[in-house]
Amino acid sequence: MTPPDAAPATDPGAPAAGLAHVRAEIDAAAEAWNRAPGAVKLIAVSKVFGPDRILPVLEAGHRLFGENKVQEALGKWPALKERFPDAAVHLIGPLQSNKTKDAVGFFDAIHSLDREKLARRIADEIQAQGRAPMLFVQVNTGDEAQKAGVTPDGADAFIETCRKTYGLTIEGLMCIPPADEAPSPHFALLRKIAERNGLESLSMGMSGDYREAVSLGATHVRVGSAIFGERPKPAT
Ligand SMILES: *Cc1c(COP(=O)(O)O)cnc(C)c1O
Repeated sequence: MTPPDAAPATDPGAPAAGLAHVRAEIDAAAEAWNRAPGAVKLIAVSKVFGPDRILPVLEAGHRLFGENKVQEALGKWPALKERFPDAAVHLIGPLQSNKTKDAVGFFDAIHSLDREKLARRIADEIQAQGRAPMLFVQVNTGDEAQKAGVTPDGADAFIETCRKTYGLTIEGLMCIPPADEAPSPHFALLRKIAERNGLESLSMGMSGDYREAVSLGATHVRVGSAIFGERPKPAT
């Protein structure tokens, strides 16, 4: 048994209620901005949380989830997928190239393609495994030194390399705006880069800004804490 103080006290029904709230907000924003019904997919970001929190969301009928670590996802999702075989899991966090084999073998999408070595490894694994996750190129729209992603200036050339040199199908772009800036200009920049490269999918928007992201064309919003509650801080 987990000691009662190991996790924040929460109502077991909270994740399902959070899911319903976020879904309603997305639908309202989509309607307000004349987006087609169903145009915005909600990725429920379940990183850090265990089956006790994830199951209520699966039982409520939700099937699309996001995880940011390969090992963590491989540890908890195979058992969940035995019960819910149609659940899809997207990798939204950075991918080390030595984990490419596992990532291509398990995830339904990878949102963090951002360098040529990774493009090459992913292409090799798709070939070897006969399984192709959807691919999003991550763009570091704020040009932040500590953040993953190709630079906005380098995005066109990188997308071209992925397509021409490695034969990859790129589904869309992903960004994480700087924490201390208004997100909308970053969402607009991501959309502009996508448009000029003929890409239709935009993975943008998190708990604090998914409504703005929907207004600017997000097709995939990645929402964690607004559904599952605050994540426990890792022990230091
Ligand atoms: C954790 C995470 C999210 C979800 O963040 P919340 O603020 O909890 O909604 C979205 N995208 C990425 C890349 C993340 O790592």
